[in-house]
Amino acid sequence: MKYALVTGGSRGIGKACCLKLAETGHYVIVNFNSNTDEAEKTLALVREKGSDGEIMKFDVSNQQEVEKALHGWIEHHEGDYISVLVNNAGIRKDALIMWMKDDEWHDVINTNLNSFLFVTRVLIQDMLINKFGRIINVVSLSGLKGLPGQANYSAAKAGVIGATKALAQEIAKKRVTVNAVAPGFIRTDMTKDMDESQLKAMIPLGRFGNPEEVAGIVGFLASDEASYITGAVINVNGGLYT
Ligand code: NAP
Repeated sequence: MKYALVTGGSRGIGKACCLKLAETGHYVIVNFNSNTDEAEKTLALVREKGSDGEIMKFDVSNQQEVEKALHGWIEHHEGDYISVLVNNAGIRKDALIMWMKDDEWHDVINTNLNSFLFVTRVLIQDMLINKFGRIINVVSLSGLKGLPGQANYSAAKAGVIGATKALAQEIAKKRVTVNAVAPGFIRTDMTKDMDESQLKAMIPLGRFGNPEEVAGIVGFLASDEASYITGAVINVNGGLYT
């Protein structure tokens, strides 16, 4: 049994990733921050797919919480390790730079970028020892193109893209791959305040994407079939390129 951890796995894109990884036979650890009900619902759906899993509460932006939760899991699972990590948890706090508050900058950087270090650094150790691992980072079109009103979010996602490419080269020899998936506009709670009817005009495929359309790529990158792909950034954006 392969163990997979999806940060922010309770809702949206993370939830779809949990279900895809359950379909491909993974034991799925559903991380969440505050909404236990949604995490429990996702776990129930994982079990409906015939797989198993557990929920794991921690705030990805809080280094101590991350390390306590993950080291706790590792201590209780001697001989097993988490071989698939999907760094998906993320938030937006949009504001134009001239009005951006310190906490809007720091919260977005901590949750979207610093979390990459906190979670990955713990789990990578066993991947290296076992000479197999898959790290998949959910980034964004914003990190490639930059979007006005999202300097904090664009900076964080661009940071994860750089880290993806660097880490991929650091650990390729140990058969651990590191890739990023960059969604455009996807229908989730994160985008529910956006007007799809207006924004779809600039998307060649003429609509927002669904979480399952991102999860399909994540599932592929986690699979054995993706063994020769590392350091890649794969767009899932309906043709809305930079
Ligand atoms: P979403 O529907 O708002 O779901 C966010 C998920 O992240 C929830 O499960 C939430 O758990 C969790 N989360 C938030 N902050 C957390 C924290 N500090 N610690 C642990 N978990 C946390 O978001 P989404 O649209 O699925 O986005 C998922 C990822 O895709 C994000 O990285 C986002 O930046 C990226 N993305 C999304 C879009 C889009 O159009 N939706 C486009 C490009 C990239 P709780 O409910 O417990 O808070």
